[in-house]
Amino acid sequence: MEDSFKHKGLRKMLVECIENKGISNQKVLQAINQVPRHLFLDSSFLSYAYEDKPFPIGCKQTISQPFTVAFQTQLLDVQKGEKVLEIGTGSGYQACVLAEMGAKVFTVERQKKLYFRAKSLLPKLGYPQIKCFYSDGNKGLPTFGPFHKILVTCAATEIPENLIEQLRPNGILVIPVGNSEKQEMFQIIKNNDNSLTINKNGDFRFVPLLRNKADDN
Ligand code: SAH
Repeated sequence: MEDSFKHKGLRKMLVECIENKGISNQKVLQAINQVPRHLFLDSSFLSYAYEDKPFPIGCKQTISQPFTVAFQTQLLDVQKGEKVLEIGTGSGYQACVLAEMGAKVFTVERQKKLYFRAKSLLPKLGYPQIKCFYSDGNKGLPTFGPFHKILVTCAATEIPENLIEQLRPNGILVIPVGNSEKQEMFQIIKNNDNSLTINKNGDFRFVPLLRNKADDN
């Protein structure tokens, strides 16, 4: 669990890289600077950890590209103390970035292996407060809602109704919506009168948001 000067130096360069690509929120950049991304990858892939690229994490899933993590976090406009639900724990990296923003993080994963891995890793990295759940994220987490913010880190074909329901008034849902080839990054604001304002923020490509828990592991 070493975070050496070399890692910290590489991380600083990564932060400069995503800043140059257009991330301007200093709190987001600071959060990326805090989280040791190399500890979420298999040690044999250490040299890739601080490149601005997605990377396989097993179970046919990927840890998102750092720019994408920063972009989604920026759109979520996280404020200290807010309850944030993440759908798609994956490696747990994005959840830690949200925790560094001061959010109370609840994160849901449908792959048992990834759920167990994140649940045991996050406390070791200093994030015991992140709550991990093994469930189908399409359902949200009704007993823990409503949430100030909800972040979906896999590609949806439509906006899940349950997630809109579990959003507080003035809450924000950030979700990539589209087909398997490409998705548009939606920032959905739930207004006080329950109407929705949808802002579209360019094309991305995510692994799919699937139905039900995985039964193959
Ligand atoms: N946020 C992750 C990247 C996630 S990749 C990170 O920081 O590493 C997308 C993840 O969404 C995968 O782990 C996939 O298993 C998960 N996923 C897909 N459909 C899901 C669903 N219905 N509920 C919960 N998780 C889901």
